[in-house]
Amino acid sequence: MTRVIFLGPPGAGKGTQAKLLCEDAKVPHISTGDILRAAVKAKTELGQKAEGYMSAGELVPDELILGLIRERLGEEDAANGWLLDGFPRNVEQAQFLNELLEEIGQTCEVVVNLEVPDDELVTRLLARGRSDDKEDVIRNRLAIYHEQTAPLIELYGGRKQLVSLNGNQEMAQVSAELQKIVKDAKTSQAESNKA
Ligand code: ADP
Repeated sequence: MTRVIFLGPPGAGKGTQAKLLCEDAKVPHISTGDILRAAVKAKTELGQKAEGYMSAGELVPDELILGLIRERLGEEDAANGWLLDGFPRNVEQAQFLNELLEEIGQTCEVVVNLEVPDDELVTRLLARGRSDDKEDVIRNRLAIYHEQTAPLIELYGGRKQLVSLNGNQEMAQVSAELQKIVKDAKTSQAESNKA
């Protein structure tokens, strides 16, 4: 089973790496950022509520996100594994996810923390040029990341579920290391199931 939570700051390359891993492992890539951007584009109620927060680099309120995750993890394709990219992003979301997984009888094998220094992130995001990749918005996203999302590293680290991955190296190298991390996590899970 492949169930992965992918943590890391904006611009670390989670989206790119997640896509490759999910194609390989044949599990859905659940990106809250992608879901929200699609909702904005389609001008749904969710999209209209989320848009202002996103363009300011703020987190969208939990009440818009939590139900969406509950529904998405309940879909058929998520029964055989998933990768979460961009969720959880604060302690409340992590607690919600914990309770949800317990409720639906699932566990996450590994939490991967993709690490890239801030100055490199700013350079990458400015080069990417998505509509929320303007310098002041980028700085706000990074500040919010450090304040709200980075504490999850300690939270999952304390549960010994966390593996760090250096995102400041060539893409192919990051992919190879990510594959190995997931493979090792599956092996150790299979062993603990046997024991
Ligand atoms: P990045 O990795 O560049 O921050 P994402 O695609 O993950 O980009 O997210 C883009 C925006 O969508 C965020 O800045 C935030 O406004 C919103 N968003 C995504 N996921 C969440 C979440 N779990 N909780 C709250 N807001 C979110």
